[in-house]
Amino acid sequence: MSFQYFDAHSHIEGDEFNEDREELLSKMMKENIGTVAVGVDEESSERAVALAEKYEHVFSAVGQHPIETNNVFDDHAFMKLANNNRTVAIGECGLEYFRIDNVAEARSKQVPLFEAQIALAVKVNKPLMIHARPSEKSMDAYHDIIDLLKSAKREYGDSLTGNMHFFAGGVDEARAFLELGFTISYTAVITFARDYDEAIRFAPRDMILSETDSPYVAPASRRGTRNDPLAVKDVVSALAGIRGESEESMRVSTVENAMRLFKLV
Ligand SMILES: [Zn+2]
Repeated sequence: MSFQYFDAHSHIEGDEFNEDREELLSKMMKENIGTVAVGVDEESSERAVALAEKYEHVFSAVGQHPIETNNVFDDHAFMKLANNNRTVAIGECGLEYFRIDNVAEARSKQVPLFEAQIALAVKVNKPLMIHARPSEKSMDAYHDIIDLLKSAKREYGDSLTGNMHFFAGGVDEARAFLELGFTISYTAVITFARDYDEAIRFAPRDMILSETDSPYVAPASRRGTRNDPLAVKDVVSALAGIRGESEESMRVSTVENAMRLFKLV
């Protein structure tokens, strides 16, 4: 199907949507809005795949979030989920340092978990969906990921691709990811926070994706409520406004960029 808008990262498989998921998915269908339902552990990844198998406008990403270091990463189970033809990305995976007392210790557990998923993405030839959250007033998680991806690129070559979800880095970090061939995506946080504008204007239009990370971060128009993938329209409109471009060209680009990254063309 061809999409009007594409939400590259939602948690539509999550419990927050149990009451009205069907209704929401049919609204999305009417408006030709597609999404990637992103798992954060094995169970939510299974639910994401099940949803993607059922709905034409839903795809799945399967992975283990960096805060899930207490559970062993089950290579075999994730390989099966990753190979599913509805799965378009591996993640969310990455590094989470925010409000963590001992970053060095967290890092030593999170890095191997992330590396296992980098290897999986290369094996199944699908892009990474990366989560990065630095410590307060720092870009540490981004810098660690840039280093890890640089060495992974040396090992695996250009088959390694991916997207930096909920990108909160500055221009320098954006430049590093773009040079590695990684896209960046923005949520509705850009409808009310101005910290992202510089990087948004810096990135070329063909490297930016729209996402919602719903149920988190509802747009300014309904702040504080549960978010959903319909808010991807607010994200596209905010991107266009910040960049001084037309909404239509931003809409077309964000859909095309997602189709290219997720190999849906
Ligand atoms: Zn997420």
